[in-house]
Amino acid sequence: MPQPNYEIFALRYAHFADRTQGSNLMFPDDHSAPMPLDFFIWVVRGEGRTIVLDTGFDAAAAARRNRQWIRSPLDALRGIGVDPATVQDVVLSHMHWDHAGHWAEFPSATFHLQDAEMAYCTGRCMCHEILRRPFDVEHVTQAVRATFAAKVSYHAGTAEIAPGISLHLVGGHSGGLQIMRVPTARGWVVLASDATHFWYNIRNRSPFVLVHNVAALLDGYVTCETLADGPDHIIPGHDPEVLRRFPAVDGDPNTVRLDLPPIA
Ligand SMILES: [Zn+2]
Ligand SMILES: [Zn+2]
Repeated sequence: MPQPNYEIFALRYAHFADRTQGSNLMFPDDHSAPMPLDFFIWVVRGEGRTIVLDTGFDAAAAARRNRQWIRSPLDALRGIGVDPATVQDVVLSHMHWDHAGHWAEFPSATFHLQDAEMAYCTGRCMCHEILRRPFDVEHVTQAVRATFAAKVSYHAGTAEIAPGISLHLVGGHSGGLQIMRVPTARGWVVLASDATHFWYNIRNRSPFVLVHNVAALLDGYVTCETLADGPDHIIPGHDPEVLRRFPAVDGDPNTVRLDLPPIA
């Protein structure tokens, strides 16, 4: 059977302007160099399926944490013809506050999570303020409720969740972060989420400051490279370059196609 090909969309919904290498990197080369972050969710579509990767945060969280709000990720989905209420599969790369909101807005979905991530964000490490800071207890509570409603599909390592589409545990940045590998017309694309916030991280082996296990994070770079067909096939989780490098959809500068070749 031929390998299926999928479309992939990156949808930007928020921005964080006031960041530098000094605030982002464990070992900055230039402390004062600007390094703003974008916030995305991703959609994989094809073969009669729609899979949403990460669900983002809401306007209230943006105000609370001082991020620049662009649009609701739910409206971004509607903008490409995806009704959140009918989505069947939501993959959460990890449970950090900026990736794992809006549980109630996906009433038809099965949520895909790694065992290790759920164990981490519900376990003893959350007794430490610095470790729980990137989580939102309301999201974690929703994950527990969804578990009790049998709406979470737990994975322990690699799992194929649709023909050709697989999840891979890399950890590193969080206790059980997973990445997603997708076959496209341009080859194997890896949606790395926070396995590499920027292309800079993976290409310079320069970790982002927020890290659970540095060795696992570095191994995760190798895993991304092994699974992707090239450096431009690894899509970082927060890099503003993504919008500049891939073609916009219907003239919307906040929505780009990642299954098409880069334009820059
Ligand atoms: Zn994260
Ligand atoms: Zn993140």
